[in-house]
Amino acid sequence: MDQKTTVTLLELAAKSLLNNEPAAIHALDEIPRDLFVPLFNAAFLGGHKTMLTAMVRVWPFHCLRIGSLNTRESYYDILEAMIDGLQMLPAQNSSSWGPRLRILDLRRDPDCKTICSEIGTAFPFCFKSCLYSQHSILKIEEAQHSVMCLGIGNSRSEPQSAQEPMELLVDISLNSTLRTEQFLSFLCSKIQQNFGSLHVCCKNLQIDRMSGHKSILQFLDLGCIDHPEMDQANLSEVLTLLARVIHLYSLNLYNIPFKNYKRRNFISFLLCLGRLDNLQELSLSFFCLTNQLHKLLRVVPRQLDTLYLPYCSLSNRDVTVLSQSSQATHLRLLSLSNNHFFSEVYEPFQTLLEKVSTLQHLEINNCMITDSTLSAILPTLSHCTHLHFLSFAFNPITMPVLKSLLQHLTSLMKLKYVIYPAPLHCYVEGNFHDSLDRQKLAEVQAQFQAMLHGAQRDNMKWSICSK
Ligand SMILES: [Zn+2]
Ligand SMILES: [Zn+2]
Repeated sequence: MDQKTTVTLLELAAKSLLNNEPAAIHALDEIPRDLFVPLFNAAFLGGHKTMLTAMVRVWPFHCLRIGSLNTRESYYDILEAMIDGLQMLPAQNSSSWGPRLRILDLRRDPDCKTICSEIGTAFPFCFKSCLYSQHSILKIEEAQHSVMCLGIGNSRSEPQSAQEPMELLVDISLNSTLRTEQFLSFLCSKIQQNFGSLHVCCKNLQIDRMSGHKSILQFLDLGCIDHPEMDQANLSEVLTLLARVIHLYSLNLYNIPFKNYKRRNFISFLLCLGRLDNLQELSLSFFCLTNQLHKLLRVVPRQLDTLYLPYCSLSNRDVTVLSQSSQATHLRLLSLSNNHFFSEVYEPFQTLLEKVSTLQHLEINNCMITDSTLSAILPTLSHCTHLHFLSFAFNPITMPVLKSLLQHLTSLMKLKYVIYPAPLHCYVEGNFHDSLDRQKLAEVQAQFQAMLHGAQRDNMKWSICSK
């Protein structure tokens, strides 16, 4: 029997078990370990909450992750059902059978399997376990190990916890909705009940209006965060968070109002950014940076590969500075959308394009790019051989220039997605801000499709952006 047939049989067995959920829950202690993963997948997809709670309670592997699984049930209902099943195991739980769960990973991740392969039962290892918090399994076990190695007697060391340390990995979005608030209070009570043994590890934290969420932030170890997103906070609140993070890979800030670049808060913000040695992605939206970008580029690490600066009121001077920066040579993703630097001259942007030979993703939507500007930068753009995605919607461009662009870009074999603006003749009154003529739009799309087909680039998708 080949492996594929075995998998199918296990899946069938799992589905038939779920037809009688009470009996299946009753039989969880008896069923073979190989059946747990397919049964869990089927229970998750079908939204069998009672089953999920029961399965987490007796999970016979070191870790459990939801990975790419999806369900039509409410996401929070499913998470709560699973967290409900978490039970702290007594310390020295060495039996190879029975419950062994130590790491419950409730983050959605398309590339993740339900469990890590178990190399040896004596040293179970999880690829996703926390590396930073003092309350992580890794750090607690390291501490216990060094106590043992130093031969410190148990009587003199701190009493060992009666429970095995556990980790719950979860992405948290603080968005003030009632359901989110209920989930967070459920999570806080779980942390309190298992104080010291359960580490809730949040790497992706989204905060919408920070002032309303101070209590949950006290429960989290902010040192674990590596991808924070903050919307509508003031700069001093951002600084409070940044002072407690250590290992950021990305930082997303939206709508952070501040008025004076000479003020202490902006200088402190730059100092905080300068400490983030691992930072690879920086996204600042509605962050007024006119003629200030050089200060930012002076402090962010050289290896930064993603820079999103929409609505930052960037000037030509800022684009010039970016083109001359050491970061420009490493950028893979760049968004300069909703900045109107093109209304002056295009040369700084052209120099930037020449410099960013690694660029894969470029967004220049709503930058007031005109026919003459686009024609001028086209030769440089068609040398961006790594480009995979290009979006330049909401710019006033005519059909002949769009056609010429398409003809030039079909030679970029890695380019797969292009989002282009409705050409000017599609606007009802010929006015860029008027409503669009749907019939004309459809004709444009058909023409572009035919041109792509003619150029043998059916694998390239051109989408018109019509609001
Ligand atoms: Zn794992
Ligand atoms: Zn952690």
